[in-house]
Amino acid sequence: MSDKRTEIGEIGEFGLIDHLSEKIIIKHNSTLRGIGDDAAVIEAGDHVKVVTTDLLLEGVHFDLSYAPLPHLGFKAVAVNVSDIAAMNAIPKQITVSIALSNRFSVEAVDALYSGINAAAEHYGVDVIGGDTTASRSGLVISITAIGDAKKEQLSFRSGAKVNDIVCVTGDLGGALVGLQILEREKQVYLANPEMTPELDGFQYVTGRQLRPEARMDIIHELREMEVVPTSMIDVSDGLASELFHICKASGVGVTIYEDKLPIDKQTFDTAVELNLDPITCVLNGGEDYELLFTIDQKDFSKLEKHPDIHFIGHVTKAEDGKLMVTKSGTVVSLKAQGWKHF
Ligand SMILES: [Mg+2]
Repeated sequence: MSDKRTEIGEIGEFGLIDHLSEKIIIKHNSTLRGIGDDAAVIEAGDHVKVVTTDLLLEGVHFDLSYAPLPHLGFKAVAVNVSDIAAMNAIPKQITVSIALSNRFSVEAVDALYSGINAAAEHYGVDVIGGDTTASRSGLVISITAIGDAKKEQLSFRSGAKVNDIVCVTGDLGGALVGLQILEREKQVYLANPEMTPELDGFQYVTGRQLRPEARMDIIHELREMEVVPTSMIDVSDGLASELFHICKASGVGVTIYEDKLPIDKQTFDTAVELNLDPITCVLNGGEDYELLFTIDQKDFSKLEKHPDIHFIGHVTKAEDGKLMVTKSGTVVSLKAQGWKHF
């Protein structure tokens, strides 16, 4: 080891993942896909298994002063199910590992697990194992999810082709705006504990932050309509960042249209109230857990009338860049800011 010291912040989370994965050598033919997508893919007879894992840390990913334990348990499962969905696979099993400080009572653990079990029921997954240990620095939740698909049903980040249509589900930016409201009310409460948090009128956005849904409904509908997205990713770090991942993995560019970006009215109004640009929230807000995918033009007519799938742009050649056409018709370059924990 040399004396050189590189701060993790210099290369960022994605840089760190690239740096670590460079040194990994795949030894088994059954490992069809390792690091680099929403989930790894393992051969299993005439099907494949997809595997994803996620780590949630108190003080980094959640704040127990406003995240109710049942919601937190539900969210911990949903974010993993979302990564299985992003592969166009069906979640089947999860393992749940937790590290607890002595601050936690059995009742508190029960509250956390009530959310985990509710999500397991909701998404039809079995809790098949895990680990429990002591923590000296707050609550840690790690969940691994295993999903199932036929090989030809999988959607990777790398399959987008020029002229494909870019689709996104639901609406975006709500989770970030909800987080800002929760933080604001926390500061008000800390300054004056007599004050009750003012969350009336912010239920949608705070709900997007505290108890997100994985879009398994969309995955089932795509199957019914016999549409396999050419590429797919879930929106965990922000739309712009996810578009960059698809473009990099697929070797393509993209053009999206500002007036096509889906934003909920409460998200828009609350962003304005908070002096945030609503479009910046849509492009760079994380944790919406919607699905971003591309489809071949031949499939457009099958999805055209879907009330919750929005067609926001198209795939271009890599050299055309990653662009957004604004409402006024100006073309701007997209920037992937994403969620920065480091
Ligand atoms: Mg993902």
